[in-house]
Amino acid sequence: MKVAIIGAGLAGLYCAHELERLGTAPDIYEMRSYVGEAISHITAILDITHRPHKDMLQYFRKDLALDITPYNVVRSLEHRAPNKTTTLYGHFGYFFKYTRDPDSLKVQMYNKLKKSRLFLNEYGDYERLAQKYDYVVIANGTSAAAEEQGIWQSWLKTYVRGAVVLGSFDPTRLIVWLNKDYTKNGYAYLTAFDNKKASLILIATEVNEKEVDRYWELFLYSENIRYPIVEEFKMAHTSGFAYPHRLGNLYFIGNAGGGVEPFLGFGHINAAVMGVSTARSIMLGKDYEKQIKEIMDRNIEMRQFRKLFNTMTNAGYDMLVTALGMPGVVPIIYNTNINATKYGALFSKLILKPPYR
Ligand SMILES: Cc1cc2nc3c(=O)[nH]c(=O)nc-3n(C[C@H](O)[C@H](O)[C@H](O)COP(=O)(O)OP(=O)(O)OC[C@H]3O[C@@H](n4cnc5c(N)ncnc54)[C@H](O)[C@@H]3O)c2cc1C
Repeated sequence: MKVAIIGAGLAGLYCAHELERLGTAPDIYEMRSYVGEAISHITAILDITHRPHKDMLQYFRKDLALDITPYNVVRSLEHRAPNKTTTLYGHFGYFFKYTRDPDSLKVQMYNKLKKSRLFLNEYGDYERLAQKYDYVVIANGTSAAAEEQGIWQSWLKTYVRGAVVLGSFDPTRLIVWLNKDYTKNGYAYLTAFDNKKASLILIATEVNEKEVDRYWELFLYSENIRYPIVEEFKMAHTSGFAYPHRLGNLYFIGNAGGGVEPFLGFGHINAAVMGVSTARSIMLGKDYEKQIKEIMDRNIEMRQFRKLFNTMTNAGYDMLVTALGMPGVVPIIYNTNINATKYGALFSKLILKPPYR
């Protein structure tokens, strides 16, 4: 069986891992000269996003046969609304390092591959590769191929601006800022590499490249953030929906197949499910669409949540953050199997009236 994977990102590497496990070594085409991240940052996966699965590392191990090592455990969540801050303590998920270091996630995954062939500095043209291989897995992190094939619908466009900053940090804490003034309907967050270095990121919705610079300056000014900056980046990010996710011998996975959820812009878990499901479809004949239905349905649910979130005012954010700090909320949301996004959306719809919306 000849399989080509376009992109040595998370989705592509997870797919290669499962293909190898099931007996085939794919060829991976990566246009960059390295495996790893172009921009250094720390990402998170949260225990509440994929209920009924409660601990994501266990889920990866048991259901996806993926044994990944996180960089840290998320032990506190700090939510900062304009007039209210709430900090929660517990076990909320895991942090991962996205750099080019050996302990970063992509390099970690790549090092687990035994037989796959990796071609660096190789741009993968899916139409050309489709002639040469039995299957082509499009895992290139963009919607371009899905758009060309007429199977893409854009949902949310954001601009992301970020920096690596120096200061004094807690590497087990995720800090999130919610403020319409400088994120529109997005958010900003800080995750730390260690107690001296952190990644600070602003995600602003429906803005252009120039506007995001203004929003970034306003964010730093409003929150009185003066950390020295050692690296900076800016990028456009799109979330959307693809259907179907397979066309003949082409599979669309990860961001290329609409794997980014439209509420927080998270895509790690979906990239893993799509990568592994594609390999199981190729090797075991399992229906790809059926295997990823649960995560795709969840993305649709998240989109409803996103639409509602977009109508909230800063007063609404204050109320939301206050509610998160109320006794009993953490045990209900984090320590049970409750589908927080589904019921959260319903609850907010019922109670959020002006001036909160
Ligand atoms: C700043 C930022 C923060 C994020 N934070 C989180 C988070 O906290 N939690 C979370 O769950 N998700 C997060 N995400 C999203 C998550 O990182 C992605 O959804 C995930 O990495 C899946 O990526 P992928 O494999 O589809 O694409 P990518 O990881 O982007 O990989 C695509 C690869 O394909 C290569 N490529 C592109 N075109 C070609 C071509 N034609 N030929 C060959 N190679 C090609 C690229 O060079 C790249 O290596 C974040 C994303 C960003 C940008």
